[in-house]
Amino acid sequence: MAKSKFEYVRNFEADDTCLRNCYIVVRLDGRNFHKFAEQHKFTKPNDNRALGLLTRSARSVMEELEDVVIAYGQSDEFSFVFKRTTHWFKRRASKFMTHVASQFSSSYVFYWKEFFGDQPLLYPPGFDGRVVLYPTNRNLRDYLSWRQADCHINNLYNTVFWTLVQKGGLTTVQAEERLKGTLAADKNEILFSEFDINYNKESLLHRKGTTLIWEKIDESVTKRMKIPNEEEKDVIVTRSKKTVQAHHCDIIGDQFWEDHPGILEA
Ligand code: ATP
Ligand code: ATP
Ligand code: MG
Ligand code: MG
Ligand code: MG
Ligand code: MG
Repeated sequence: MAKSKFEYVRNFEADDTCLRNCYIVVRLDGRNFHKFAEQHKFTKPNDNRALGLLTRSARSVMEELEDVVIAYGQSDEFSFVFKRTTHWFKRRASKFMTHVASQFSSSYVFYWKEFFGDQPLLYPPGFDGRVVLYPTNRNLRDYLSWRQADCHINNLYNTVFWTLVQKGGLTTVQAEERLKGTLAADKNEILFSEFDINYNKESLLHRKGTTLIWEKIDESVTKRMKIPNEEEKDVIVTRSKKTVQAHHCDIIGDQFWEDHPGILEA
């Protein structure tokens, strides 16, 4: 195709190729979700509809885009890890970030009804995105551990805070005052001695967040078969299919990684 005299403007585009051999991580976070949660009447401390929608949207990112090997999400955020050898869009950071953010945002709106039913979506939500590169398996695991530790710290705080308000009759200001300077052990103790709640028995979804990975699942389908010299009949065919599976477990220790050795590359 003939080039126009305007073509030179393309040279103003910056090179944002991601360094080779590194895992490419895209983390999204809901914009101003504190307000979004209030306006859409999210239950406190955890709204399961919102968590379900978040995970559904993340699943869409994994299924529609290439090379995501693992994703981890909690609260209003999700991290997507692309395999270190990916050549998708010539490893251009802006392509990764924008495709993930827009696929996720449009899915969040598209699937809203499946989780919130007749409750209307009041305005179009947005998500910010960033790209971070991790050169080693240890760095990548530490990154995911950092996000899961964040989930734990926030969930413990929010669980005690809302228990003090909802069951203890404190105002939000009083609950905040009560929790100032308390350590994890103190928070566990308040829950246990005052409300008979064992934090370790609270839902895994809330304490550990959601990890999505690709797993092979056996799928049985009935096929109508015509065998020569015989009548047509239904035959059950089993084939293994790669699907996105959700886990709500610890990913900080070694167990998860030993159970799923295909995620990390050498
Ligand atoms: P920013 O735009 O800087 O990210 P933000 O208001 O989104 O601001 P975050 O630190 O991302 O701040 O926190 C997200 C907030 O969204 C939480 O503090 C909580 O109030 C709310 N939230 C998100 N998901 C849920 C959920 N599933 N259940 C209840 N509340 C939620
Ligand atoms: P990529 O993902 O690389 O952007 P693409 O298929 O979107 O691939 P583009 O070069 O962006 O390729 O071209 C967009 C195409 O979408 C057009 O070639 C045209 O076929 C179609 N298209 C977009 N907008 C319209 C429109 N308003 N009316 C008709 N066709 C359209
Ligand atoms: Mg934030
Ligand atoms: Mg946010
Ligand atoms: Mg957040
Ligand atoms: Mg296009």
